[in-house]
Amino acid sequence: MKQVYIALGSNLATPVKQLENALHTLGQLPHSQLMRVSHFYQSKPLGPQDQPDYVNAVACLTTALSPLALLDELQRIEQEQGRIRLRRWGERTLDLDILLYGDDIIQSERLTIPHYDMQNREFVIVPLYDIAPNLILPDGKKIVDLVQGFSNHEMKIRQKSTAL
Ligand code: ATP
Ligand code: MG
Ligand code: MG
Repeated sequence: MKQVYIALGSNLATPVKQLENALHTLGQLPHSQLMRVSHFYQSKPLGPQDQPDYVNAVACLTTALSPLALLDELQRIEQEQGRIRLRRWGERTLDLDILLYGDDIIQSERLTIPHYDMQNREFVIVPLYDIAPNLILPDGKKIVDLVQGFSNHEMKIRQKSTAL
């Protein structure tokens, strides 16, 4: 079993519900268990600014799925929740990115793990710190140090609509 961290994001069609629905589905993946979920944060979009704010979170899953099998499942969930690709970093009902897959380092056509930009994104590092304050990344960096870089973040915590 591997400990996996997944970033969730949505800015269309009731984002809080999109995340909650995705978390429910993640909890039912084969050979997997949903362990922890961060707060939900409202954040400014990356890339094009003429789109709604996002709701972001990070979840921890333990899974026996391979990295590619997990990616297939995540892309299926994105599709089921109506993701349509319009433009890079554009609005979407759901984005599910694999941040970390244990300590594995993966470079393939379909997967880059750790996620290539995770250390630069407050909407990833802040929620990751919520659920894994002792985490050390495969490059040796501690999440507790990385989160200091975002101590001035202005993201607001969004109320979840159901208990998870
Ligand atoms: P960003 O990756 O900058 O957050 P994005 O999430 O909007 O952008 P997507 O359109 O969701 O990008 O994904 C594009 C491709 O990224 C996918 O088809 C997938 O094969 C690839 N990919 C590479 N590494 C990962 C990863 N760690 N998690 C999810 N997808 C990944
Ligand atoms: Mg993404
Ligand atoms: Mg993605």
